[in-house]
Amino acid sequence: MDTLSLLRTDIEKLRKKSYAVMKKAVGEKVYYRGLLEFSNICRRDCNYCGIRKSNSNVKRFELSKEEIVNIASWCAGEGYGSLMLQSGERESRDFVSFVEDIVRTTKEKTVSEKLPRGLGISLSCGEQSKETYRTWFNAGAHRYLLRIETTNPELFNKIHPSSVSLQKRKACLVDLKEVGYQVGTGVMIGLPGQSEEDLAEDIEFFKEYDIDMIGMGPYIPHKDTPMRDNRSGSIELSLKMVAAVRIAMKNINIAAATALQAIDPIGREKALAFGANIIMPLVTPAEVRKHYQLYDGRPCINEQTADSKLSLSERIRSMGREIGFNEWGDSRHWRC
Ligand code: SF4
Repeated sequence: MDTLSLLRTDIEKLRKKSYAVMKKAVGEKVYYRGLLEFSNICRRDCNYCGIRKSNSNVKRFELSKEEIVNIASWCAGEGYGSLMLQSGERESRDFVSFVEDIVRTTKEKTVSEKLPRGLGISLSCGEQSKETYRTWFNAGAHRYLLRIETTNPELFNKIHPSSVSLQKRKACLVDLKEVGYQVGTGVMIGLPGQSEEDLAEDIEFFKEYDIDMIGMGPYIPHKDTPMRDNRSGSIELSLKMVAAVRIAMKNINIAAATALQAIDPIGREKALAFGANIIMPLVTPAEVRKHYQLYDGRPCINEQTADSKLSLSERIRSMGREIGFNEWGDSRHWRC
């Protein structure tokens, strides 16, 4: 069945099929990546993003190396196998060296009997030169998430400033692959003017670029952006995308995005039932979480990290899913 037909299949049929594909291709285990947003300083002005450079209502922050390494150690102690370090996009030499340093130190400090190779480190720090990607890879990061957001050129140009180009974004994904990363990308679902055909094309793009992991969720507007007056993407279409990607790509990793929880209180759990196998519990310190609002209504803002994890783990287990504590949970697609 082609990808467009998948998106048009009855949702319950799609859920059953995608879960069966996931079970066979990657198993039923769920892996944690602690999501640490270490800085909201960004040089870009994407039209949908709450931390865009020109949003003067945002208080800018950057965590110190010590804060980052302490949180990483906490994650390792709690049995999270991996950490996702995310920030706004910057290219300065200082920033590149800072990220290199925190990756290297985090690796060193989290080696233990349970984690003999330390935490698995994923980065999501935007478009960078191939040299920078290599520097960070050599420091110990081995996965990188760079979302394409949409592969429709017209739509891409509508939601980004003219300084951001679809060609450049694609070239970065190729660079990441060549450097040796497990490469993640994803799209926003339900963008104004986006069609089912566009989403089907996005899935074809994931296949063509041999993507190892997907992180995607519904488009949700933010009040301080030029796209503030649009409607959010739906939970139904978001879940259908998760299922269609699982069926089309089989053995990749798929994250149950936090944004799903913003439009449905159990959106992430639903995504697990539709074929997702990765959860990213937020471990950003409570005092700065409110400054990392990519969209309005972001969940977990006031939850303490330990409480979040407890309730999340209970919810996952109640679905009959095992959690891969102290495991990296690498994409099987990448290993093949
Ligand atoms: S989407 Fe990323 S690059 Fe664009 S403004 Fe937001 S943080 Fe910056």
